[in-house]
Amino acid sequence: MLRRTIPTQRQLKTRRAILESYRDLLPIEGEYYGLEGGNKKTGIKNDKNQTALVWNLPPVITCPGASECLNYCYNADTRIDVFPIERWCCNLYWAVQKQEELIYRLCEQIGRTMNPVVRIHSSGDFFSSNYIGLWESVVDLNPSALFWGYTRSWRVPKLLRDMERLRAKSNIQLIASLERNEVPPAGWRFCIVGDDHRRDDMFNCPEQYSNGKNCLDCGECFCDTKSNIYFVRH
Ligand code: SF4
Repeated sequence: MLRRTIPTQRQLKTRRAILESYRDLLPIEGEYYGLEGGNKKTGIKNDKNQTALVWNLPPVITCPGASECLNYCYNADTRIDVFPIERWCCNLYWAVQKQEELIYRLCEQIGRTMNPVVRIHSSGDFFSSNYIGLWESVVDLNPSALFWGYTRSWRVPKLLRDMERLRAKSNIQLIASLERNEVPPAGWRFCIVGDDHRRDDMFNCPEQYSNGKNCLDCGECFCDTKSNIYFVRH
């Protein structure tokens, strides 16, 4: 049984309106917010003592490859305790205006975490070459940490070239998020979001089913499994 329901047309309409309003978001100058701890989906810590960390940016304005996902993105949620959009706008400020200091702070946070596994972007995406370069530095400077992320920015040719460098590193898994009949870039793992409850030709994310595993228990995405992941829309 699914852990979360597929959104109704009415819920999708509300999400579209929220996502439309996010077009006006801007970076916010403020204190360092940084990496968040793990959550219900990622897990917090597993029996191998791996610890989840999550990095987020405001959606829409950092999503140059977005298309139909702007009609249903799950980050269109006004619960600021779970989706602290202003803090994510602070993260964006640091990513744009204080890149060197942000690299230092991220490495500091990762360095004091036991066996860190970092999800890049539960919200947001790779929005520029400079920003991809920031993650190249962080991934290089933390060879014992594991990183993973899903991205639509592969649809932007220049960003795809930059992400190929990032993806080539041994401690990161980048997964191309596809819609409809899109074909992933050569050699890339991919993921699809759909309304079917399962797909026989893909790895069905176990977290979305009742009593399923969280990411730290599963590990399919951040380990080099080569699999392609299916998510049910929620
Ligand atoms: S497939 Fe596994 S690692 Fe990937 S999102 Fe689902 S639970 Fe997390």
